[in-house]
Amino acid sequence: MADKERARREALRLFETSAVKSAPVPLDRIARAAGVIVQYAPFDGELSGMSFIKNGHPMIGVNSLHAPTRKRFTLAHELGHVILHRHVLEVSGVHVDKGILRRDSLTSEGTDDREIEANNFAAELLMPEPLLAAALDGRNLDFEDEEAVQALAKRFNVSATALQYRIQRS
Ligand SMILES: [Zn+2]
Repeated sequence: MADKERARREALRLFETSAVKSAPVPLDRIARAAGVIVQYAPFDGELSGMSFIKNGHPMIGVNSLHAPTRKRFTLAHELGHVILHRHVLEVSGVHVDKGILRRDSLTSEGTDDREIEANNFAAELLMPEPLLAAALDGRNLDFEDEEAVQALAKRFNVSATALQYRIQRS
């Protein structure tokens, strides 16, 4: 079983060490502060990103050809693997991700606990509870209201899909 609660808790803990008070969350800075080396490179096709441990250092590669919001979710997802599944990476080597949080991959996500955990980690890190609560200010987000969805997604520099995943998952 995927431990979503732990994934969210760890993301929130990482966010809290950053002392960030407003959206969007500065992901690259947080990754660097956590001792992770992040590299952007043009990968082929649907390859979103990868994570591995090299000489004891966590490394993350992100496909530089993808849209900014997608690159942010990829980086947050890989950070999730590095923090939640480091022991697995130490043993199994490079972890490669394709099509993270694409609509057509959401069903496959359901079969892999570690992917579910990395997605929950990513969604919480990009849209941490305190910042999301402040942005919503007691209101419920109406997903039929495209303008409101876009505005909130823009504020957090995430895709509408990521926002929907964050809000509707629980
Ligand atoms: Zn993954």
